[in-house]
Amino acid sequence: MSEPLIEIKDLRVEFNVREGVVKAVDGFNLTINRGETVGVIGESGCGKSVTARAILNMVPKPGKVSGEILYHRRAKGAATDGLSRTTEVIDLTKVDPDGETIRQVRGGEIGMIFQEPMSSLTPVYSVGTLINEAVSLHRLSPVKKIGDQITETVQAHRRVTKAEGRAIAIEMLRKVGIPKPNERVDNYPHQLSGGQRQRVMIAIALSCEPVMLIADEPTTALDVSIEAQILDIMRELQESSDMAILFITHNLGVVANMAHEIVVMYMGKAVERAKVQDLFYNPKHPYTQSLLQSIPKLGQKKSGERLASIAGSVPNPFNLPSGCVFHPRCPAFMPGKCDVFTPKWTQVGEEHWANCLLYEEVGK
Ligand code: SF4
Repeated sequence: MSEPLIEIKDLRVEFNVREGVVKAVDGFNLTINRGETVGVIGESGCGKSVTARAILNMVPKPGKVSGEILYHRRAKGAATDGLSRTTEVIDLTKVDPDGETIRQVRGGEIGMIFQEPMSSLTPVYSVGTLINEAVSLHRLSPVKKIGDQITETVQAHRRVTKAEGRAIAIEMLRKVGIPKPNERVDNYPHQLSGGQRQRVMIAIALSCEPVMLIADEPTTALDVSIEAQILDIMRELQESSDMAILFITHNLGVVANMAHEIVVMYMGKAVERAKVQDLFYNPKHPYTQSLLQSIPKLGQKKSGERLASIAGSVPNPFNLPSGCVFHPRCPAFMPGKCDVFTPKWTQVGEEHWANCLLYEEVGK
């Protein structure tokens, strides 16, 4: 039975800058259950990564966060697996961003992998220093050995000695497919390939046995064969634990293979949410339909034909269109309706919701 791990309720993230207010996330709702993978897709700037940062209470200034992010944390107990079934509920938007609670959650209970591992690994530190930085920023330090970085992360969140931490680091490197992990543990990031560095980031993120992994474009910088290996590793590790994954990407092909459920975002709002099969075979929102039509399909087009693309461009965030913000680009635009009324979240099928006036009666 599904057990909620993270409940995001009416999340709003605004940046008040000189030019005006940007609503990076505008009333976002989502439940992530234990053991499930939720994919979040959308064009650049739609609010996917800001949402991920809000979960970890890492929204940079001058960002203002409101709403709730409820983390259902299992308390330590006497059950056979070491965890009791009682949970405490923590609103991650309300905890001190530098306090003890968020330091336990960030990098310990919730791990995160970013797109570009070299901005995360420091080449000149040993694993320990790298781990410290990884703990706070989830970045690899270029100046530390990768083993030290993993060990420091583990020691920051688990009661282990340095020797035990190193043994865990070697085991994690083996799990993510780094050859000769006993030797590679003493490498600096620059001695590894791009794919290997991303595996090290996954090893760091998973070294504390998180209950959830946030993967933000984790394979975008990698070639397709390495991407397939990384996705296999994530799937295998998820199957061996009850870990949830929040998979953020603009790559529909990748998310189709990984997620149980998909949320489509546009201009800070969720516009459609459904189980993966339903979303791909029966998309309801015109934006989702346009995204799916823009995927190249082998043998579908004669050579020379142009791929379908979404008309227009993403609107100016300081001057959003009235009504439905997608209306200037929408092939199903209804004048006098879509540019006047703001659509609401409407159930359009079993476990399938869309934010579109095609499915609701308005103005009556
Ligand atoms: Fe298109 Fe109107 Fe639906 Fe917006 S509300 S997606 S403009 S049909």
